[in-house]
This record gives sequence, structure tokens and C-alpha cells, in this order.
Amino acid sequence: MINRKSRDEIKRMRHAGHIVALVHQKMKEVVEPGISTKELDNIAMKVIKENKAIPTFLGYNGFPASICTSINEKVVHGIPSETEILKDGDIIAIDVGATYGGMVGDSAWSYAVGNISDDKKMLMKATEEALMAGISKMRAGNVLDDISGAVEDVANSYNLGIVRQYGGHGVGHSMHEDPFLFNYRVGDKTLIKSGMVIAIEPMLNLGGDEVFVEDDNWGVVTKDRKPSAHFEHTVLATDGEPILMTTLWE
Ligand code: MG
Ligand code: MG
Repeated sequence: MINRKSRDEIKRMRHAGHIVALVHQKMKEVVEPGISTKELDNIAMKVIKENKAIPTFLGYNGFPASICTSINEKVVHGIPSETEILKDGDIIAIDVGATYGGMVGDSAWSYAVGNISDDKKMLMKATEEALMAGISKMRAGNVLDDISGAVEDVANSYNLGIVRQYGGHGVGHSMHEDPFLFNYRVGDKTLIKSGMVIAIEPMLNLGGDEVFVEDDNWGVVTKDRKPSAHFEHTVLATDGEPILMTTLWE
């Protein structure tokens, strides 16, 4: 069942989303060659705690960190590590979740480390564009397939692979609620109603669609080892314009 959030729940989610955005603001500052993904995790944890929120990912199904850090061919769910050091030319997807007042904000962003190739620049630009295209369809009266199709069309226009096994999701009292949202058309005619909140999150690959899960049972990697990008916002549907929950307060 897809629940619709009350005014009060939305207020707390917006607060959680602001904290997630603060973490991303910080990540943007500190992502550079030489820093380890564990250091990024420590910094993210500090921002979340300073703002009296809870790192949603820590302990989720046993996940051992506050953020997911996924470099280059890693798509999502990378575990931060002291021995994993960012280097010039990498791209890193950082996924952040914060819980405030019992409500969750969830947002991922891909970052360039130093100077990156034109291919990687295109991949990041296209994936962000796919996210924005999906968000534009998050309005009452549309159906879930409208969002999925908008993401798919952008991916196809850049000839990028679409990760099939993972997708967006309802979010609120917990990180993963109904519905599941595919990043390509599946014919889902579920009606979007005002008050629904969905994390929209395209994961696009420079190569093919296929991915596998690493031996640590978390990291998801492209089969052809080509780079992947990931962008995500938590989005509220209204009768008018979609509202981004995971941005900084004005
Ligand atoms: Mg996320
Ligand atoms: Mg998510």
C-alpha cells in the first residue's frame, strides 16, 4: 500500500532532507584525490549527528556505515573503507540517508574527483538529466510509468545502460516503502496522488545494463566494468509542481 504523508510528516521529512543536503554540500567540498571513503563516511556521520538526526543506513540490514560510496564501475551500496582512496579521474556516487523525527530523507549524488574523462562527464550529466526528467513527472494524476518512461527516454537518448535490478521507492517512516519504481517502462499504471513521497534514483551505465553483487554482499558492480552514475532525490507529489525534499532550506 502506498501511504500519503500528512502535513506534519512532510514537515519532518523536509527537515531530514535538509540534513541530507547539508551532508552533500560537505561532500562536495571534501571529495578530492587522496581522501579515503572511510574519511568521507566519518565526515557525513558528524554532519548528521550535529544536526540531531540518525544515519538511516547505519545498521540497515547490517550495513556498516552512514553513507554508501561507489567508485567508477561500482553502481551502488559500496561500503566505505580506509584503504579505498579517491584518485584523480574517478567518479564517486555518494548515497546519504538521514532520519529526523522518525522520517527519512534519501538522496544520492555523483561527484567528479579532479579531472575526469569526457565520457564520465557525459554519464554524470545524462544521469542527472534523467533524474530531473523523472522528477518532472512526479505529479498527481500521472502514473508511475510516466516517471519510469521519462528516465528511460533520457538514458536511451545518450545510449546508456539502465540498471534493471535496482530502482526508486516510496520513502517515509522507513527508507523503503511501497511502491518500487523502475527506471524503465514496465506498464505500471499506479496513480500518483498528492502526499505521496518517492525517492527517484536512476543508475545509468556507460556500458551495458548488467550488474553483479560483490563478495562483500553489498557492492553492486557493472559486469563490463564500465563506469556507472547515480543521482537521487526524495520527491513529494502535490496537485501542482513536485517538491524536492532533499535540498537545502532556502
Ligand atoms: Mg539513496
Ligand atoms: Mg533510495
